Amino acid sequence: NIRARIHPLLAYLQEVHAKYADSRDGALADYIPELSRADPNWFGISIATIDGQIYQVGDTAQDFTIQSVSKPFVYGMALQDNGLAYVNDRIGVEPSGDAFNSISLQKDSGRPFNPMINAGAIASTGLILGDNFEQKYSRLLQTFSDYVGRPVSIDESVYQSESETGDRNRAIGYMLRNVKKLDSAPEEVLDLYFRQCSILVNCRDLAVMAATLANGGVSPITGKTVIDEWCVTRVLSVMSTCGMYDYSGEWIFRVGMPSKSGVGGGIIGVLPGHLGIAVFSPLLDERGNSVRGIQVFSELSEHFDLHLFNVN
Ligand code: GLU
Repeated sequence: NIRARIHPLLAYLQEVHAKYADSRDGALADYIPELSRADPNWFGISIATIDGQIYQVGDTAQDFTIQSVSKPFVYGMALQDNGLAYVNDRIGVEPSGDAFNSISLQKDSGRPFNPMINAGAIASTGLILGDNFEQKYSRLLQTFSDYVGRPVSIDESVYQSESETGDRNRAIGYMLRNVKKLDSAPEEVLDLYFRQCSILVNCRDLAVMAATLANGGVSPITGKTVIDEWCVTRVLSVMSTCGMYDYSGEWIFRVGMPSKSGVGGGIIGVLPGHLGIAVFSPLLDERGNSVRGIQVFSELSEHFDLHLFNVN
């Protein structure tokens, strides 16, 4: 098409998309039936710059649940709502090397290792301020709406399933409560967490969310400040060390940008001061990361020299 012919970035994205579109590596998440009903062909790539330009190709308007990509954003809310010292006392910032759903806490402090594994994410959700559940839930939705620049909602059937099958996460919630890292009742925090995982987004939304972090917390499309800059610094730090499940070390080594993936098939990457990238493809590897997502990020990083630790 004409746009691609006159815009080299778009043409390049189309090339990368075509290169991996036929790949069938990986498997759909199947811990709840709703996620296994995703179409393995779904594949979108979106890039949003901090001045609000969006370049995208493929299934970038297809809705899916945000799942663990919500974790850094809720950690950001926790920081903004409570301040750094309070949050540090509740949630560590150390990569765990354990699986994302591990039932373990740091020995010395009793804190979850970091906010990107479920224990730390549930503790983050527990730190969202509000007088009651309704207020916390509406603040959660409002924050994600501010990030994407339109009102978001949740997928009710995914939420129901997450809740019905979420006993391991409940166990984590009660364990946190037992060590006094949750102020409110675990059931309430878990309900909020299951809703948070079920928020519907598309690939474009995720790129805009990533670009908002790249832009120091100011939405490049609405101009609204969604999160303070000091929180963004902390959020990007834990994304760098812990954002890709137990592939985080390999990811920062190879791709070189703070990122977060979720079992819905989304991955976001942030190039601070420049842009946000999102890839959506629901075929996952054994660690829970989108296979095409890893392929596309690796290509983009190499092609455009995006690795953050490249001094040139
Ligand atoms: N709802 C999932 C859980 O908490 C999120 C999984 C993920 O995206 O890592 O188990």
